[in-house]
Amino acid sequence: MQTKVVKFGGSSLADANQFVKVANIIKADESRRYVVPSAPGKRFSKDTKVTDMLYACYDLAARGGDFTELFEAIVKRYMDIVKELGLKIEDRLTREFSTIRMSFLARAGRDYAASRGEYLNGIILANYLGFEFIDAADVIFFGEDGKLMLKETCRAVKERLEKLNNAVIPGFYGSMPNDTVKTFSRGGSDITGSIVAAAMNADLYENWTDVSGFFVTDPRIVPDPEPIRSITYRELRELAYMGAGVFHEDAIFPVRQAGIPINIKNTNRPEDAGTMITEWAPLDSSPYVITGIAGKKGFVTVTIEKDMMNSELGFGRRVLEVFENNGISFEHMPSGIDTMSIIVHKDEFEAKEQMIIKAIEDDVHPDKIDIDRDVALLAVVGRGMKAQRGTAARIFAALAHAKVNVKMIDQGSSELNVIVGVTCEDFETSVKAVYDIFVTQRL
Ligand code: ASP
Repeated sequence: MQTKVVKFGGSSLADANQFVKVANIIKADESRRYVVPSAPGKRFSKDTKVTDMLYACYDLAARGGDFTELFEAIVKRYMDIVKELGLKIEDRLTREFSTIRMSFLARAGRDYAASRGEYLNGIILANYLGFEFIDAADVIFFGEDGKLMLKETCRAVKERLEKLNNAVIPGFYGSMPNDTVKTFSRGGSDITGSIVAAAMNADLYENWTDVSGFFVTDPRIVPDPEPIRSITYRELRELAYMGAGVFHEDAIFPVRQAGIPINIKNTNRPEDAGTMITEWAPLDSSPYVITGIAGKKGFVTVTIEKDMMNSELGFGRRVLEVFENNGISFEHMPSGIDTMSIIVHKDEFEAKEQMIIKAIEDDVHPDKIDIDRDVALLAVVGRGMKAQRGTAARIFAALAHAKVNVKMIDQGSSELNVIVGVTCEDFETSVKAVYDIFVTQRL
């Protein structure tokens, strides 16, 4: 039998109705053996995630405030689910809540507080499914430095789970060497799912959320964009880096290393194929030449001009050293014969601007320094671009047609992406133009 590890996000488990959907999904396929839940998320757009309620409640408790009301609102979220599902675990939960309340009073820490969202949801889901509950604190370990101990963790997870046909392991947290609870960064249940999949050498890691996978581009810019059926880890990394999010970046490593594919699926539309993330994907698995378009505003280009720069040994290094010394990493660095441009994040740069300009002047004596503060970057990503002649021409024809002035072009040497710099005002127009030519017109 195959083994699938299935992780359900907060919106998939926000109320009893969602629990029913989740149970139906799990029961529909017996290979869905190990389940990693998040804490209950938003039930409607103005609702608050339980994790956020827990942080707020704990912060109040830690300041010595009266946190009863906030605490009761959290208790109610869980009790409503339990009652509606008709589960007989109210007494157990009441005991858990009294322990949690005491621990808040004893200042058990923000991580402990936040982790209770997943912990309690795990207990409820395990009871509802009739699966064993495994506390993540018993099998997921962080070192003294706060970093995940992947090897030891995988060993412990495997040892516990291989004896069990099914189990529920809450996401988002583990334990420190001194037995205190530590969480991953926000959205970290994805990481737990990935670790469990790697430890159990699963055939597939299914990540269930409230969208049918990744879209070719941001739905806030292009309404109703096409879904991405298949994407490679490298493409995903390029798109995620440029702002496309759904999946926690740190969650890629454990499964990727173990060669396990990830399938992003929609709890509310389980029949949709979703997005398959794999190490390698055949070119014909994508209906378009490109896989995705992402991008961000808020960049600055610093252009340095100096006659005969090209023949001045160490010029580039000295310029980059200035940025390095100020703790700023650069995003791109297109260069000409006597010019070089450094593209950096605006917020980081502006805080150190005066020091950087002064240091460049002192260190390399440029003829001129130009600063362009109105830069947005667009990343067009696709494994198919390499094999297709004229891809770049089509991108730039589409942009010219949309009357967009291109400020910068950078094609990665992997030919997996083309980065284009435009003004912030032209950003949305650019995304739409590139989407239109490759996806709508399928050119
Ligand atoms: N509940 C946690 C959060 O809201 C972790 C997760 O959902 O993945 O960040």
